[in-house]
Amino acid sequence: MATSVSPRETDTSALRFKVEAQQGEARAGVLTTRRGQIQTPVFMPVGTAGTVKGIRFEALESSDLDARIILGNTYHLWLRPGIEVIKSAGGLHRFIGWNRALLTDSGGFQVFSLGALRKITEEGTEFRSHVDGSLRFLSPEVSMEVQAALGSDISMVFDECAPGEAGHEETERSMNLTARWAKRSREAFDRLQSDGADAGYIEAEGLSGTQALFGIVQGSSHLDLRRISLEQTVNIGFDGYAIGGLSVGEEKSVLFEVLDDIAPRMPKEFPRYLMGVGTPEDLVGAVARGVDMFDCVLPTRNGRTGQAFTSSGKLNIKNSQWTNDARPLDESCRCSVCKRHSRAYLRHLYMSGEMLASVLLTHHNLAFFLDTMRGVRQSIRSGDFPKFRREFTGRLGANGE
Ligand SMILES: [Zn+2]
Repeated sequence: MATSVSPRETDTSALRFKVEAQQGEARAGVLTTRRGQIQTPVFMPVGTAGTVKGIRFEALESSDLDARIILGNTYHLWLRPGIEVIKSAGGLHRFIGWNRALLTDSGGFQVFSLGALRKITEEGTEFRSHVDGSLRFLSPEVSMEVQAALGSDISMVFDECAPGEAGHEETERSMNLTARWAKRSREAFDRLQSDGADAGYIEAEGLSGTQALFGIVQGSSHLDLRRISLEQTVNIGFDGYAIGGLSVGEEKSVLFEVLDDIAPRMPKEFPRYLMGVGTPEDLVGAVARGVDMFDCVLPTRNGRTGQAFTSSGKLNIKNSQWTNDARPLDESCRCSVCKRHSRAYLRHLYMSGEMLASVLLTHHNLAFFLDTMRGVRQSIRSGDFPKFRREFTGRLGANGE
């Protein structure tokens, strides 16, 4: 009798993904990359310029955090230090000293956020570098070339992102351009892989050892366009599928409306990645709708501005009510910061402008996000996810912020 083998399980795959438990739409699984296994749902700390700001790689690897995959940013690394520097170092993993998995975004979103400084044509996007003001040009082909030189384990197609409030016509035009760019990204990516341009190539048991490429579904808040975009993206064929263009100024309710409609239509046997979202509550809500992967700057960025995420909601360390408070940031957190330091001390550091304040708050915030996802995974596997979600969301309001 012939056994049926899914194409994703052959040794020519760049990734393997297996859903091991499901409750409603929420999934717990294992994503196997050429640089190790990642339990999903997973939160990926953002390392824009080759650093997760304010934290050492040893801390990211520590049992406190145990981040299995982090992000790098094509746009920023391309402009500075430039791909020649990273190429000569042997790729981004070697350059930064990180052997675990790396995902790079395509630069599309950064160019989008430049707003008026950019000019979009069929060929690509022209813009002024924020580093030195020089005129630069980013296209699907350039983005794929940069991501191959970085040697990330998962790369993203170069897409165009319509603003959150964009009308139907504008969104449709943008979405169709994204589809054409996705096809060009796929072709350039395949060419670069067969030319051996991938700086991160590594022998990996049961996998091809090559880079993986994810497609991105666009369409803003228009569900009909989202569905078309999904079909266009799946027809090209990728190793995973991302939902882009959310958290770009649209109404808060749009996020869950789009996920309710689109996530269940996404191919079940591939990882689903929600780009750039969001608060702990958003993450848990998106998991409930079938999302497997997340990235967001909130834990690191807010850590630097004195805001802690805790199991009872946000906590502003500047607040004078913590002046003599001997309690840790979060009494139910097991991270090394909460084990050792009080709110009073953290507040003192912050008010004195000490860099350690940012370091410690960033560490705790990342621990909170990563630990939340650990709790999410365990509860899906034990069949307790609805209870976990209810209790988690209920506690978040306790600080009243
Ligand atoms: Zn903590």
